[in-house]
Amino acid sequence: MDIDKIRLIYLFTTVGSVVLISIAFLHLLKGDIDMFAFEMLIASGGILNAVLLKITKNVTVAENFILFGMLILICGILVHGGYNRTGIYWIYTYPLLTFFLKGNKTGIIWNFVFFLAVLILAFLDYKNIVPVAFSQDEIRQALLAYTIVMVLAYIFEEALLKSYKEVSRLAVTDQLTGLYNRHYIFEKLNDEIERAKRFGKKFCLILLDIDDFKNINDRFGHDVGDYVLFEVAQVLRDTTRSVDTVGRLGGEEFIIICPNTDIVGGLIIAEKIRSSIGELNIPDVGRITVSVGVAEFTGEETAHELIKSADTALYRAKRSGKNKVEIYSKNGNVIRFGIDLLKIKKPASAGRH
Ligand code: GH3
Ligand code: MG
Ligand code: MG
Repeated sequence: MDIDKIRLIYLFTTVGSVVLISIAFLHLLKGDIDMFAFEMLIASGGILNAVLLKITKNVTVAENFILFGMLILICGILVHGGYNRTGIYWIYTYPLLTFFLKGNKTGIIWNFVFFLAVLILAFLDYKNIVPVAFSQDEIRQALLAYTIVMVLAYIFEEALLKSYKEVSRLAVTDQLTGLYNRHYIFEKLNDEIERAKRFGKKFCLILLDIDDFKNINDRFGHDVGDYVLFEVAQVLRDTTRSVDTVGRLGGEEFIIICPNTDIVGGLIIAEKIRSSIGELNIPDVGRITVSVGVAEFTGEETAHELIKSADTALYRAKRSGKNKVEIYSKNGNVIRFGIDLLKIKKPASAGRH
């Protein structure tokens, strides 16, 4: 989002400066040196702001600077009248700009400040302190229209934000189970690998496959099969920690990323999941079982390689009778739960970095 905003700030500054400098030169041709200087000053401020953004990458400061600059510019135009007295139209750009740059909540504050600034100008004009180029009537009408534009811009921004959130959610969600989808899991796994490498953290990957699922589909139908997937997903949600990422890799295969977890911790989570699923009593279907493979990140694998390690362990669990958890060890051997657990405790952290 920030990258897009930075680009838009550059675009806005470029287009805004070109327009403003052109208008400034039109004023110069008319002999209006004051307005020329004022508009050139604002345009230079905008360009300077873009340069500072390039250096500091501080988007918030750049946004506030733009909104403040626009406020000063529009107030200046209201006092002066603008080119051929058309300056009053510029006020309608403000609500759109504020909501876009600052979002609805902070945007409202900026709009309030702007509204107040125009009211103060009108009051100063009324008291003959600062002469404004527009009549009280014109300003009142403009502020009324401004309020309508502001409300519409607010509603539009709100709707946009809502649909953006919904689209973002759908893009990472598996429709049937509501868990994360394969695409998101790979993204998250790559992030976790990066994090583990940078901070020397451990993490585990758990791969889980429902046993004899084809039989369930064949005996009870696809819809019941879908319901079983949904129930398993529910158990996964309930038995994992909030820091874990649970997803459906495809078909009847699920995946859990467990941050800050070594192989022993991974094994405990996997065993808890296996036994919880074993306790389910699904209407019509009855009991189901799952086979589970666990692999710990050693500091070198890619996402695909780590999944392959967990899959190797899962495959061993299937081959050795299903309804069990197997863990993958670094030397390429699959070690059986319960037997070599104590032995694996040491090598699990060795060889790191
Ligand atoms: P194993 O114990 O070795 O894992 O055997 P299995 O029968 O579970 O595995 P297999 O790969 O033979 O069959 C998986 C089945 O899962 C086949 C496929 O039709 C079914 N399946 C895949 N996706 C879905 C889905 O979204 N809904 C339903 N109901 N079934 C699905
Ligand atoms: Mg299966
Ligand atoms: Mg399968």
